[in-house]
Amino acid sequence: MKALCWHGKEKVQIDTVPDPAIQDPGDIILKVTSTAICGSDLHLYDGYVPTMQKGDILGHEFMGEVVDTGAGVRTLEKGDRVVVPFPIACGHCFFCAHDQFSLCDESNPNKSMLDKMYGHGGAALFGYSHLFGGFAGGQAEYVRVPYADVGPLKVPDSLSDEQVLFLSDIFPTGYGAVEEAGVKPGDTVAVWGCGPVGQFAIQGAWLLGAERVIAIDRVPERLELARTKGRAEIIDASKERVMDRLNELTGNRGPDLCVDAVGMEAHGVGTVDAVVDRVKQAVMLGTDRAHALREVVQACRKGGRVAVAGVYAGLIDKFPFGAAFGKGLTFTMGQCHAHKYLRPLLQRIQNGEIDPSFLITHRLPLDEAPAAYKTFRDKEDGCIKVVLKP
Ligand SMILES: [Zn+2]
Ligand SMILES: [Zn+2]
Repeated sequence: MKALCWHGKEKVQIDTVPDPAIQDPGDIILKVTSTAICGSDLHLYDGYVPTMQKGDILGHEFMGEVVDTGAGVRTLEKGDRVVVPFPIACGHCFFCAHDQFSLCDESNPNKSMLDKMYGHGGAALFGYSHLFGGFAGGQAEYVRVPYADVGPLKVPDSLSDEQVLFLSDIFPTGYGAVEEAGVKPGDTVAVWGCGPVGQFAIQGAWLLGAERVIAIDRVPERLELARTKGRAEIIDASKERVMDRLNELTGNRGPDLCVDAVGMEAHGVGTVDAVVDRVKQAVMLGTDRAHALREVVQACRKGGRVAVAGVYAGLIDKFPFGAAFGKGLTFTMGQCHAHKYLRPLLQRIQNGEIDPSFLITHRLPLDEAPAAYKTFRDKEDGCIKVVLKP
């Protein structure tokens, strides 16, 4: 089959590789019909995630048709059309039993590496380095999906791939960030970063009853999308002072809920890359760039809530912890427990409350993925979200 493979920093290419096969009774094989490039794939592309190996297949946002099932699979059969959440979860460990699927204790065969970094490591992810399990991703013609009775969600034929594909990650990740933070009717929600996750945090805030949504970014087309499709008030951080503007907009009180949908940024985790050899030492040196998060803490109202949807990996420097304490802030964060949002969000799509396909700016064949990574990384050609067709 053809697959998008990692070969080094800024080097991805379409290779011909062996077709995946059932390895465990709980597996299925999917023929991928649509897959997307995610902002977090850029950390791999830019060479900042340790434990990547030449030939690793990328991609954690994908859907397709079941073409083979392991002997133990009970809920799916050949021909079913499914979308797959990006964390791999066993469905029966302590964490899965508590709906904390991205913290699954069982799915990551390389968990001991993560244990060294974090004390306790979380779930495996598709196509996201050997630190996160070494599972092949879905930017390919076929993909093996383990624990098939736990993750994949059957989707109705009445909905197109483009309408349901983002259930794999960015829709639950953005929506889940504001839901976990307990957004309430009447809240003013401010969202830093109007990339795909930020756009879905904005949508989630409205769906959950926010009264006002304010969106902050520097990229004109992202702000424009937040204003038009997101119906948000916007702050252009390249032209305005964000703190001053937020105080102005909220009568000096600050937003009730602040969402960091920026994260560490692709440049911020370079020093974690020695992890395989000297995990602890590497982490001690690692510093994520946390500009957005610092601003979030300063801007949030006293007693407010901070939701961190952007990804952080290592240490952050000069974090205003005194401000967070002094203002009595509540933090929620982490990889989204995507599994638990699949059905409720599919229902919202079916009800016509949201059509996630509004985000797509580029539709390309899988063969053009190498060029698409570059276009997306460099934010060229108005690129916000790329969908690839194998
Ligand atoms: Zn993603
Ligand atoms: Zn589990």
